[in-house]
Amino acid sequence: MAEFTMELNDEQKEVRDWLHGFAADVIRPAAAEWDEREETPWPVIQEAAKVGIYSLDFYAQQYFDPTGLGIPMAMEELFWGDAGIALSIVGTGLAAVGVLANGTEEQIGTWIPQMYGDANDVKVAAFCSSEPDAGSDVASMRTRAVYDEAKDEWVLNGTKTWATNGGIANVHVVVAVVDPELGSKGHASFIVPPNTPGLSQGQKFKKHGIRASHTAEVVLENVRVPGSCLLGGKEKLDERLARARERAKSGGERVKNAAMATFEASRPAVGAMAVGTARAAYEVALEYASTREQFGRPIIDNQGVAFQLADMRTQIDAARLLVWRASWMAINGKPFTAAEGSMSKLFASETAKKVTAQAIQILGGNGYTREYPVERMHRDAAIYTIFEGTSEIQRLVIARTLSGMPIR
Ligand SMILES: Cc1cc2nc3c(=O)[nH]c(=O)nc-3n(C[C@H](O)[C@H](O)[C@H](O)COP(=O)(O)OP(=O)(O)OC[C@H]3O[C@@H](n4cnc5c(N)ncnc54)[C@H](O)[C@@H]3O)c2cc1C
Repeated sequence: MAEFTMELNDEQKEVRDWLHGFAADVIRPAAAEWDEREETPWPVIQEAAKVGIYSLDFYAQQYFDPTGLGIPMAMEELFWGDAGIALSIVGTGLAAVGVLANGTEEQIGTWIPQMYGDANDVKVAAFCSSEPDAGSDVASMRTRAVYDEAKDEWVLNGTKTWATNGGIANVHVVVAVVDPELGSKGHASFIVPPNTPGLSQGQKFKKHGIRASHTAEVVLENVRVPGSCLLGGKEKLDERLARARERAKSGGERVKNAAMATFEASRPAVGAMAVGTARAAYEVALEYASTREQFGRPIIDNQGVAFQLADMRTQIDAARLLVWRASWMAINGKPFTAAEGSMSKLFASETAKKVTAQAIQILGGNGYTREYPVERMHRDAAIYTIFEGTSEIQRLVIARTLSGMPIR
């Protein structure tokens, strides 16, 4: 087990500086354009693929970093560049992690390369869980997967919504109900291979922020996928369902949901994205406050401005520490006895919303225009308190974990 450290090692510093260079030279200059276009920034993803940032190798290297700091460090730098573009770059990774976590070695080897494509022909992937009537309440999911034993195929029907890269992805990972009696324990994940008939994009959403990231509905109409597309395989699924049915019958003790443990481990990554956006806005505000003069002196010369910056920086550093702690716990298999993963996402996302709003205030009228990046950063920051579980849901998870009570 790696000791918890707040200092990056030499190798990590090198990676961080390299990512920062890419974020500063390639992502940030393209941010305003792709925000206005509200389109997937394919040329930037391709640049990222050429230098090796958009690849499974890079993602896996950071993911398995024993200090736990690889992913948060990478997310912070890329999202410091721009949240919408960065999400277009890391969105595939979210789907890939779904396969890495639940797939067999064969599934990992077959599908993950197809999620990324290559530098000359980049592809993206989508993870589709949310539905119009199943957002925070995952257990009300309706998309159904039925096994056709004669053909060894699964048939998927339903509508997914809010899918990052939904409909434009080469590979979709779809969560569906296989046993409606078991609530969220009766769900399973499926690969939908490229060009599978029956899968189509529904409406593409026009959003408040992260507008360079594609978000859309995914409609599944009699989508047939081979049995080999069930993540983890049929035998494992049958065993899991049998255990869940047994527990449901005996009314036995509540077992920790494996999905919840996965969320605890993945939420710090979203916290790190929020830290990146918050830090970006803080840096713009600090620079502006140091150079903008009113009443014959820089505005930072007023405690009213300087104290805001002091609070902003304090909260950003506190958020990063919570994120790093939770990421270190996740990679080292530490139990999340206080829902530390949710804690880090809650605090970092709320910090990003607050800090980006303060940055607009410090820039005054300029902050409110698209001539400066902080209004975009503020629009982008609002997503962190919504996706991967809203702030209210994080509080619910933390409170339930602390109290052991079924708080509603
Ligand atoms: C840009 C974007 C990208 C996304 N990407 C993906 C993706 O790639 N894949 C995917 O599957 N999903 C994705 N999502 C979906 C996202 O995870 C959901 O939007 C989120 O989980 C909230 O669900 P909801 O929107 O249905 O809100 P609801 O669940 O309807 O919540 C509405 C409000 O009610 C509150 N609320 C609900 N229940 C409770 C409760 N018990 N106690 C207190 N308050 C409560 C919520 O906190 C929220 O404030 C994305 C969403 C967006 C906006």
